[in-house]
Amino acid sequence: LGRRINSAVNDLTRSSTLDEKAFEEMIKEICNALISADVNIKLVSTLRNSIKKTVNFKELPPAANKKRLIQKAVFDELVRLVDPHAEPFKPKKGKSNVIMFVGLQGAGKTTSCTKLARWYQARGFKACLVCADTFRAGAFDQLKQNATKAKIPYYGSLTQTDPVVVAREGVEQFRKERFEIIIVDTSGRHRQEQDLFDEMVQIQAAVKPDQTIMVLDATIGQQAESQAQAFKDAADFGAIIITKTDGAAAGGGAISAVAATHTPIVFIGTGEHMLDMERFAPQSFVSKLLGMGDMQGLMEHVQSLKLDQKDTMKHIAEGVFTVRDLRDQLQNIGKMGPLSKIGGMIPGLSNMMQNMDDEDGSMKLKRMICICDSMTLKELDSDGKMFVEQPTRMTRVARGSGTSVREVEELLTQHRTMAGMAKNVKGGYHPKHDTPAFG
Ligand code: GDP
Ligand code: MG
Repeated sequence: LGRRINSAVNDLTRSSTLDEKAFEEMIKEICNALISADVNIKLVSTLRNSIKKTVNFKELPPAANKKRLIQKAVFDELVRLVDPHAEPFKPKKGKSNVIMFVGLQGAGKTTSCTKLARWYQARGFKACLVCADTFRAGAFDQLKQNATKAKIPYYGSLTQTDPVVVAREGVEQFRKERFEIIIVDTSGRHRQEQDLFDEMVQIQAAVKPDQTIMVLDATIGQQAESQAQAFKDAADFGAIIITKTDGAAAGGGAISAVAATHTPIVFIGTGEHMLDMERFAPQSFVSKLLGMGDMQGLMEHVQSLKLDQKDTMKHIAEGVFTVRDLRDQLQNIGKMGPLSKIGGMIPGLSNMMQNMDDEDGSMKLKRMICICDSMTLKELDSDGKMFVEQPTRMTRVARGSGTSVREVEELLTQHRTMAGMAKNVKGGYHPKHDTPAFG
């Protein structure tokens, strides 16, 4: 999708006459690209109108950077669509917060349950899991295995076949034991769809969740919208987790699902491992959807500054990007000029630093560099995977740098984003014709 939109924009800037007809053509091409990325047609048409309104072609001053303006309009509109500006659920410490998961079989509920429990556990909550999927054989075993690996207490039954009973008993027991996060996993398949929805409503009534989360698979495309709507009608949910965003899916369906149900995405699943979950950030989600991140522009800028970049440039050319490369980049960014300008060129960073002024931004940079400096040489020269394999490394680095595990995670996410970009650079794109110029 990003490639297609970029090439539409590039065509416009390449054509010698920047007339209104070329502009119309370009908007049409962008809209087609969005539709083929599974964004709902009605949404796309709304988007088309807002872009036209935002970029009033006739009134643009001749010297305006039309390309940038159009890119920004597309970006802002998409961000607006996935950001419903609803306050996310905040569990209360010292209280039992019940979170119930719903979604179709295979969406990633059981996996995401464990990820979320671990996420809260790492933040000092006493978390546990209840398996109320009595429909699928082996469902309890799967949850048990996940939970055991993550050292999370769990509840389930091999003999009780009524999921409502298991859910009620499990939640009751964990409430008594003063667990703070009680996550209830449910079944996603029945002989009849209505049975599934009835069961959900009954479990909701039995455990009275403080939050219900719908899990949606990013790879289901256009179906995401109707699926989310059907669940919303049957058993209201207050948040969405999108899984499998690490796959080839364009993710447009997720945008449609959010827009249709006016429900915020809270997390995204980025892999099968327990730590492969990130807080949802509208700007970086849309950046990824659009294939943005101006790695090429950043490289040119860096080169023009004649900073000592030999290693990093060589690494990027080879498709490698170590944590130390990130550290060097962060340090250079400080020298490169106002963060408000530079940050936007770097995928991920612009999102992290939104709403920060240049002073806050440079404080943030310093903290990130400090995190790197608290790593061992082995960690610094690695691809960052060892932190995923041994999460205690994060705790140690956080302590050493006087920051938090969340900030270390954030830095590693930033690293992954840039390493991914480096891989793409190596993947042979052709700067002349295929510049990922969003930013
Ligand atoms: P459930 O039926 O909704 O409980 O789904 P599961 O949690 O059992 O997940 C179904 C499959 O999707 C499993 O093979 C998971 O490993 C996989 N899965 C779940 N989340 C992700 C994700 O974010 N990325 C990838 N690549 N796979 C995922
Ligand atoms: Mg399951």
